[in-house]
Amino acid sequence: SPEEEELQAQRIASDSAFDSFLVDEHEQNGKWEGHSMFAPFTSGWQQTETEPLIVAMGEGVYVWDHRGKKYLDALAGLWCVSLGFNEQRLVNAANRQLTTLPFYHSFWNRTSQPPLDLAKALIELFTPVKLGKVFFCNSGSEANDTQVKLVWYYNNALGRTQKKKFISRLKSYHGSTLIAASLSGLTPLHQGFDLPVDFVLNTDCPNYWRYHLPNETEEEYSTRLAENLEKLILKEGPETIAAFIGEPLMGAGGVIPPPATYWDKIQSILKKYDILLIADEVICGFGRLGTMFGCEKYNIKPDLVTIAKALSSGYEPIAAVLIGQHIVDAVGTYSNGFGTFGHGFTYGGHPVSCAVSLETLRIYKERDILQHVNAVAPAFQKGMKELAKSPIVGEIRGEGLVLGIEFIGNKDTLESFPAEWAVGAYFGAQCQAIGMLVRIAGDIIMISPPLISTAAELQQIVKFAEAALKGTERYIV
Ligand code: PLP
Repeated sequence: SPEEEELQAQRIASDSAFDSFLVDEHEQNGKWEGHSMFAPFTSGWQQTETEPLIVAMGEGVYVWDHRGKKYLDALAGLWCVSLGFNEQRLVNAANRQLTTLPFYHSFWNRTSQPPLDLAKALIELFTPVKLGKVFFCNSGSEANDTQVKLVWYYNNALGRTQKKKFISRLKSYHGSTLIAASLSGLTPLHQGFDLPVDFVLNTDCPNYWRYHLPNETEEEYSTRLAENLEKLILKEGPETIAAFIGEPLMGAGGVIPPPATYWDKIQSILKKYDILLIADEVICGFGRLGTMFGCEKYNIKPDLVTIAKALSSGYEPIAAVLIGQHIVDAVGTYSNGFGTFGHGFTYGGHPVSCAVSLETLRIYKERDILQHVNAVAPAFQKGMKELAKSPIVGEIRGEGLVLGIEFIGNKDTLESFPAEWAVGAYFGAQCQAIGMLVRIAGDIIMISPPLISTAAELQQIVKFAEAALKGTERYIV
């Protein structure tokens, strides 16, 4: 259409202007030392020899850096760009909303239409249990902080003023604000920040491969983990434990699928002690595992759910908390007593973010994204898992379109490589050199390609990983 042609022309014009600006800027400033931006989650950012990779444009599953080098983005940005980097319908949805109403808030009984429509669509889309209402935030971290405030408010409303502690798992990732970082079971989020806060308790990371006992089956391992959870609850006093938060399949902690029967056994303990369950679906939600939500895949029936990332295919910042009706009712009545529910964000329910998210959900439905993921994922998982034969790979694990590779120094004893060998970083650098971006966390590599990836693009990831692995084997030997 003429409208689309015009937009495309604008895009090309702004791309080239942006490109030349970035090249100049980069050539002047080069290493991080010369840039004014304080970079998040960047190891060695303060070292003058580190240079940022400046991504200048994207198309489909590919991005180009400011010098014109092309990469297959096997992490979909930050696990979020489910529909690839140039979905024109999302650009059009944003443009339409920007032109009609670029901003409105949702405070004091005012709002706009897109958040109302999106909330309705999300309640209909989440089928593992019927949830009540949706509270909008701007990031997964904000949403998880909101979860804690809602749970405390709920228990105060019920007069259970002692029931305030949270249980999360070691190796979990729930965000990096004060409370979300405290809920996360990853040491780098705590070091130097005086975290975690004291109401968060940790239980086991459900990594069967690494932590099971000799001859212990997955089911037996899950039973042991559920028993450990129960022991922790009894030690602390069930009347003090408010909620358990978990990702259906752990993401940033190393892509760790739950062992068989894990969620059934954990949920029955939580029920026994009247502990709320929060499912953090920030990575699993919207098809990554081949089901619309991770809760469907593992038969999880949560009281509260956190969503973000693929909700807008990463095109606009948005996150949300889906809230069970029992919590909506108690919180609503209690807040009426105060005259206000004193929590919210200027940009929560932003009309542009909500309009883009609504269009994202329409595209998932029209293009049957679940069917696509289920059609392409098995060959991808199989191809990648064959690389586990390598003498330096301990395990390759995953579901749908998410996958983790864990390097190991000794396959029998599971002893890791010395940290100073930086094996994961070496593999990641090999990938980058040959044109693929992955996530590196110590000796674990994580891959989470756009959901629209074709079978051929996924095979390309396998080929790139194979080549990077050969290079890494040579480096070690
Ligand atoms: N929860 C999970 C499971 C995540 O993976 C992330 C981010 O990766 C977050 C929460 C935090 O989201 P955000 O970075 O939008 O704050």
